[in-house]
Amino acid sequence: MLSFLRNFRPLDWLLGLFSQDVGIDLGTANTLVSVRDKGIIINEPSWVAVRKRTREPLAVGAEAREMVGRTPADIVAIRPLRDGVISEFEITEAMLNYFINKVHEQLLTPFPRPRVVVGIPSGVTEVEERAVRDAAMAAGAREAYLIEEPVAAAIGAGLPIIESRGSMIVDIGGGTTEVAVFALGGVVIRRSVRVAGDEMDEDIVQYARDKYNLLIGERTAERAKITIGSAFPMPEERTVTLRGRNLINGLPQSVEISSIELREAMAPAINVIVDAVKDAIDETPPELVADLMEVGICLAGGGGQIRGLDDRIREEVRMHVWVADDPMTCVARGAGRVLENFDLYSRVLATDDRSRRLK
Ligand code: ADP
Ligand code: MG
Repeated sequence: MLSFLRNFRPLDWLLGLFSQDVGIDLGTANTLVSVRDKGIIINEPSWVAVRKRTREPLAVGAEAREMVGRTPADIVAIRPLRDGVISEFEITEAMLNYFINKVHEQLLTPFPRPRVVVGIPSGVTEVEERAVRDAAMAAGAREAYLIEEPVAAAIGAGLPIIESRGSMIVDIGGGTTEVAVFALGGVVIRRSVRVAGDEMDEDIVQYARDKYNLLIGERTAERAKITIGSAFPMPEERTVTLRGRNLINGLPQSVEISSIELREAMAPAINVIVDAVKDAIDETPPELVADLMEVGICLAGGGGQIRGLDDRIREEVRMHVWVADDPMTCVARGAGRVLENFDLYSRVLATDDRSRRLK
């Protein structure tokens, strides 16, 4: 009670009555924002268009991605978190700023001083953590906390992470795949690999080039992956048409490619992900492995939706594997849930925040 009084700031308390709790999934491919009682209100690609020479941010999100390939040569669109690390702080800050301000615009918050929980890739350094927190504060947050993405994903997927029982999440995004085993509210084992959806797209581009001398764009590859890509033989194999440019004669060309070929193209990336899951299980203490055999393994993230990935992992590790409901929104929903049950979940926040809370 005494410490409550000592920490009591009447102004913040009053502002809290009027402003929002905001959960942000700062993903390598997509940024999602969830707001208490409103659900996901923003879902946009994590892109920023900048002037090449000055690195000045010009557009963010969907608008920035639309500029790719259609802009003057001195404007480039970049994904500041592409590899799961924050490559350019100012650009990440501009992105966070844009999304937080967009929340206020959409909700017409009377006093825009939200409490924010941001999901960040688990591999980021302390310096990067501080950068994200500072960016959130600079964008007007009243309080900003960080949470590792796999932890938020697990909460969003409804895994029992604060029970003593073990559970496991595999979150496959654009740039990174994060595997984590939980027990007693803590991460017992974590594995993060920089192989996920993007790498599959790159593998498909490479495959078309090697096998058909066909140069295709990454978005064409991504579309093919989403339409017929798979990680396990399918009851009915299908085909899709890839359009691009022939590398020998420079002319436009289209090639019909089968889901069997596409599976072969994506196999290197899929194998890395399967190995990361196996490694995590290998390191998991036997008691928790017994729990996992009961609860199973949950797949989340956009890449969790690859056809047959659940079957493939099931076959390799002989455990029940399932895809979370609405897998692409797990992190944002999980971050939102942390804010709703702050006392229950405060111990799963990133280290700095946790130590601050415990002081
Ligand atoms: P991040 O958390 O890194 O921002 P997401 O969880 O948003 O990533 O997932 C983005 C990745 O998921 C992209 O590589 C995209 O191509 C892939 N993806 C999205 N939908 C599907 C789908 N239905 N099947 C396979 N992959 C998908
Ligand atoms: Mg993600």
